[in-house]
Amino acid sequence: MKSRHLLPVVTGLMLSACASPAHAEATVDAANPLMQASPLPLQYPPFDQIRNEHFQPALEAGMREQLAEIAAIVANPQAANFDNAVVAMEKSGQLLGRALTVFSNLNATNTNPEMQKIQQTVAPLLAAHRDAIFLNAALYQRVLAAAATDEAKTLDPESAQLLNRTLTQFRRAGAALGEAQKTRLRDLNTQLSTLTTQFQQNLRQATKDAAVVVDDAARLDGFSASQITSAAEAAKARGLDGKWLITLQNTTLQPGLQQLKNRDLREKLYRASVGRAVSGATDNRPVVAEIVKLRAERAQLLGYPNHAAWVLEDETAGSTAAVNKMLAELTPPAVANAKREAADIQALIDARAKAAGRKTFKLEAWDWPYYAEQVRAQRYAFDDDAVRPYFEIGNVLEKGVFFAAEKLYGLHFKPRSDLPLYHPDTKVYEVTDRNGSLLGLFIADYYARDSKQGGAWMNSYVTQSQLFGLKPVVGNHLNVPKPSEGQPTLLSFDEVTTMFHEFGHALHGLFASAQYPSLSGTSVPRDFVEYPSQFNEMWASDPAVLANYARHWQTGAPLDPALVDKLLAAGRFNQGYETTEYLASAVLDQHWHQLAAGSTPNAAGVVAFEQAALKEAGLALGPVPPRYRSPYFAHVFSGGYAAGYYAYIWSDVLARDSESWMKAHGGLDRANGDFFRAKVLSRGRSTEVLSLFRAFYGAEPDPVPLLESRGLVPPGKTKSKAAAAVTP
Ligand SMILES: [Zn+2]
Repeated sequence: MKSRHLLPVVTGLMLSACASPAHAEATVDAANPLMQASPLPLQYPPFDQIRNEHFQPALEAGMREQLAEIAAIVANPQAANFDNAVVAMEKSGQLLGRALTVFSNLNATNTNPEMQKIQQTVAPLLAAHRDAIFLNAALYQRVLAAAATDEAKTLDPESAQLLNRTLTQFRRAGAALGEAQKTRLRDLNTQLSTLTTQFQQNLRQATKDAAVVVDDAARLDGFSASQITSAAEAAKARGLDGKWLITLQNTTLQPGLQQLKNRDLREKLYRASVGRAVSGATDNRPVVAEIVKLRAERAQLLGYPNHAAWVLEDETAGSTAAVNKMLAELTPPAVANAKREAADIQALIDARAKAAGRKTFKLEAWDWPYYAEQVRAQRYAFDDDAVRPYFEIGNVLEKGVFFAAEKLYGLHFKPRSDLPLYHPDTKVYEVTDRNGSLLGLFIADYYARDSKQGGAWMNSYVTQSQLFGLKPVVGNHLNVPKPSEGQPTLLSFDEVTTMFHEFGHALHGLFASAQYPSLSGTSVPRDFVEYPSQFNEMWASDPAVLANYARHWQTGAPLDPALVDKLLAAGRFNQGYETTEYLASAVLDQHWHQLAAGSTPNAAGVVAFEQAALKEAGLALGPVPPRYRSPYFAHVFSGGYAAGYYAYIWSDVLARDSESWMKAHGGLDRANGDFFRAKVLSRGRSTEVLSLFRAFYGAEPDPVPLLESRGLVPPGKTKSKAAAAVTP
């Protein structure tokens, strides 16, 4: 979770990011570049022509156009068949897809207040637009009629998958319900939309209110001078002149807990964090109780035992049983390691107390980050700044990220200076395939700026499909601080790993070879999408790759292998804690969303329910609290991760299994790369994706390599069974 993948705004909506002039007669506006297909190579967006005033007219025209296309599908006098119902839907919405792709990408990478206002205006319109398609009874009848034909039984596998996906989307959206039920469903959707917004607003205010005020700068011992200045400025901004303010971030743990020497202040900061949104005007307990209740009712209405069952049916995991099993398997080793780490920390606390002639104390949640940092410093004596001179950004990209792709897949990369950029800090590369043909375009956009959203992500600017004859245009977006003029960009190893991670998503998009855009590239379930990216991280620390890119930016000297070992060992430190706090939140998410309608607790029972769930799962550990507690668990109560928070570790199991397979088969090698590309990276969602993993790995997912990679299995005790059943 060093980085994340930004899912398209309209995941699951039958919109393609593709362009064809054929449909746009009624709405062509020659002055608006979004109204027609880009004339540039591969339909790369004409960024130099696009202005704020082009977005909303193109988006609204795109919605109108798609509704007209849908009406034409319904009104077609011919008998329904795969082509005139299902493929026709796939072909609809090209103008909307093109406008939305450019808008959402630029809104994330180079936004302005006007674009943010457009987003607020357009978001509810897009939600209603989706309902207008997937709750359209006549359209659903056409697709059902097409599915009932003899032709439907003889479709090629990818076409059969498209038909199946289309039917699934209709059914899951409630298209099969009667009118009274559809009315209740729309009502539930509206209420849930309001409640999740309420949750977010309460949380934002509660987090602001919970900031800790400090009267005496001496209590901030451990903070850097610039942090103390920031705390004074934050206090002043709230009219608390002469005081200091420690503001909170969204997780249970706060950065200050690692640095502050004053134990009382640490406790105060911790209690402020976990006590957020559980009382007063910003109490999220009633909101959580109501969200869970309505989601359970909606699941029942749609024919599922609970909300998680509805969500997971459409994911790689497939069922609540599969997710419960994986979480239960990972819990004991993670908790055992967290307990070992706790014992190490307690020993340090005891030794320090003895040396100082003081009475010792029992390790509490607000002590862990501070003392873990002391243990880390003792054991690894590792300083991130010592390796930065070896990670110059240009070397990392061209001699590391691209080098690995060249060795594994036979790709070549060449800068393109003839295409317009949306920001001067970006660069475009042409990607040539193993046979010398043009594969696609890659936009490298690594620097932070005020107009860019935080984090790291990949997105498609043009989605590959044979249906429209389109090749992929993909981008990687990070937030690396830009050095001052003339200075080199020297990365941390974490940033290096993120570059490899995001490039794994890029390869998933570049290697796409689908007939249909909605099954292409990264259009896969959430618990699968991080698999290629988490897998690609392995090449950052591969000896041959590292030797090629990790060179001192001035002297060209290679990185000392002893430093590499320290770097990798330090990365595995505290993994018992980090895995346990993550699992605790993943388990909470499942417990909340596996409740049946009528069995959800009321507001007063929210905290007790949470405690019981953690206890039952063996995850109620005092010094290791969940990463998020329910009243501030925004991923699942206001983000898109309800019943889906497990997805990060689920994908990581697949990624670490694949890493162990690669290592067992000789690592960095064209035959290995081509095999992975053929079985996984090129396949998108053209079939059930877990079968893609099995075809590559030769076995079911195995949690052992993940545990090994996090140092959670005692060395020599268990060996992963890196599948040798299938060889390239
Ligand atoms: Zn990712």
